[in-house]
Amino acid sequence: MVKKSTPNPDLTTLQRTELEADLVQLKLDLEELLNITEANAQPVKLKDNAGRLSRMDEMHNQSILLANRNVTKNRLRQVLVAQARIGKQQYGYCSSCDENVAFNRLKAYPEAALCLQCQSEVEANQD
Ligand SMILES: [Zn+2]
Repeated sequence: MVKKSTPNPDLTTLQRTELEADLVQLKLDLEELLNITEANAQPVKLKDNAGRLSRMDEMHNQSILLANRNVTKNRLRQVLVAQARIGKQQYGYCSSCDENVAFNRLKAYPEAALCLQCQSEVEANQD
């Protein structure tokens, strides 16, 4: 596979700047989300007066919260990878097939490392 080392020609300078700003903002949002939810991610403290049902509720809520935090952490990791790829002039190329990733896709998911085609193949293989 040939790794290109020039910016994706399908993206204008303006689009590129916009996506880089989106990534910075997304990173801040995700970090904030992790900070906000951090306190609640601590092990459930059982209250003496809590009934069995509310304890189960609490543990259930926490498992959802922890799953969401993992999704957020993964997305943050992808944002950091995307930012590193900008520096290497690899941003905007699919990291699997090297094709250009469409601006609309990057606008929706600035951290996307795969083109739509490769992404759907990955998702199909997961089923
Ligand atoms: Zn691809």
